[in-house]
This record gives sequence, C-alpha cells and structure tokens, in this order.
Amino acid sequence: MTLLDVQNLFNTDDKCREVLTKLRWPAGVECPRCLGKRISWIKANKQFDCAECEYHFSVTAGTVFNDSHLPLTTWFTAVLLLVEAKKGMSALQLKRTIWGQHNGSYKTAWYVCHRIRAAMKEADKPMLDGTVEMDETYVGGKNRGGGQGARLANKEVVIGLRQRNGDLRFFHAEDAKSGTLAKYIRENISTDVEVLITDSFPAYKNAVGGAEHKTVNHLAGEYVRYENGACVTTNTVESAFSLLKRGIMGSWHKISAKHLQSYLDEMTFRFDRRKRSDLFIDTLRHMVTAPVLTFENLTA
Ligand SMILES: [Zn+2]
Repeated sequence: MTLLDVQNLFNTDDKCREVLTKLRWPAGVECPRCLGKRISWIKANKQFDCAECEYHFSVTAGTVFNDSHLPLTTWFTAVLLLVEAKKGMSALQLKRTIWGQHNGSYKTAWYVCHRIRAAMKEADKPMLDGTVEMDETYVGGKNRGGGQGARLANKEVVIGLRQRNGDLRFFHAEDAKSGTLAKYIRENISTDVEVLITDSFPAYKNAVGGAEHKTVNHLAGEYVRYENGACVTTNTVESAFSLLKRGIMGSWHKISAKHLQSYLDEMTFRFDRRKRSDLFIDTLRHMVTAPVLTFENLTA
C-alpha cells in the first residue's frame, strides 16, 4: 500500500469508516456495551444504535481514535507515513509532512504518533522457539567522559531477542543483571528452545537456566562460528539493534526513558511485518481493537 493508494482508496470519511467497521467487527457489528447484535445505522450522525440497550456508538468509540477531532482521512495518511518509515518518523516530521511547517500543532502530531504506537503494543505473543539470539544494548543518555561504567550509568538498557527467521522483541529493561536477563528468557523463550545464542557477557551464564546455550566471543573478535553446520552468531539481533539506533539518532532524536518501550514496540511491530503486504491494514486493525489511550495517561 502506497501513500497514493491510501489517498485514492480512502478519500472520504465514509470509506474510512467502512474499512474500520469491517476490521473491528469482522463477524458483524456488535454493541461494545452489551454485546448485542441487533444494530441499526444512524446515517445523520454516523453512529450505530443498539436495539438491546439503546447505546449509540461510532466505529472509533473506545479505540485509540477515541474523541479525536482529526478527520479519519488524515489519520489514515499518518498511519501510512509511520508504518512505511523503516527507521520511524518523528512527530515533528509528521507534522511538517501533513500540515506543513506553519500549520498544525506539534502536540497533535505527537499524540497521533503515540496513539498509533499504543496500538502496536501486542499482548500475548507466542514464546520464541528454534534458534534464538539474545543481546543487550544501551541507548540514550549523554556520552560524557569517565570510564565505561560512568558512560553506561545514564543510558537505558534495551534487551533484544530474535528468533531466527521469526519474531523480534525489544524490552526496556531495568539493568542487564543475571536475574533481569533470566526474567526475559522465562517470559519469552520456550522451554524447548533448540539453542539460545548470546555473546560472552558473563551475566548470561546464570540467566539461561536449562536451555542449550552457545556464545560468541566478541572480545576475542569472534562474530560468526559454524558448529556442525549451525551458525553461531548474534548478528541478526544486532542488525535489528543498529536499525533501532539509527531510528533513535535519525528520526526521534532524543526520546525519554518514559516512552522508550512504546518506540521499541513500534520498531518491532514494523520489523516483524516488513515483508507483509497488509502492514497498513493490519495496523488499522490493531487501532480499532486496542484500548483508548488518553492524553492524561500518556503524559501522567
Ligand atoms: Zn447494547
């Protein structure tokens, strides 16, 4: 789906509502309050009317679009821009692209970006299996002098897990100690994983539990090794980290620790769907099925 496709296919509010309705209720419109199925359409105010409980609701009520005054056609353009930006797009860039330098508000663009990101947060993901690479990296903060310890102290830890030929997960972690690494392994990696590959960072040794564990020794200059035909490397999770870092450097500039996880969710959502032709539609589906994100909650 290209920007032109989106602007041709969804050039009216009615067309946007139609696709959102199909995505939200694939088996037919259902009342969000009482789950009733006897629903009629009130054309004048673009709302549904539930015959069971008399509740009036729109397709966007109770979703991340809730209470938005932006036209849906503008929302659709914003979604396309965000999902097609491989390294992410800053709210400032989105504002300039949609409204121009002197129009629109940064606050609106910022809120739009965060609502789209909130929809990209996925719960109940399946456990990773097969060959899984795990690594940690440090982002943000200032690179002042001092030793390595001092430079890392004001940075945020991101843990990355990537199943070979499978999903990517990023987590904003408290630290990179054994206990923390063990928690992410427990919560994301299947107990029958074939092999977990990390670098030789000592904390992994106690964190992996009973899983088959192989390491590559980066300190000794080793990045790829073949063992019985299997490729022992953490290069695929590291290439995802480098995309993340280019995103942070190039598009988001400085992101606060508070919102880091939502940027990580955006990055992994897009990354895992990079070869799918329904990326745009799938994002809309998430947007009409994810809960409301209020401005108060976002800025609390
Ligand atoms: Zn109802």
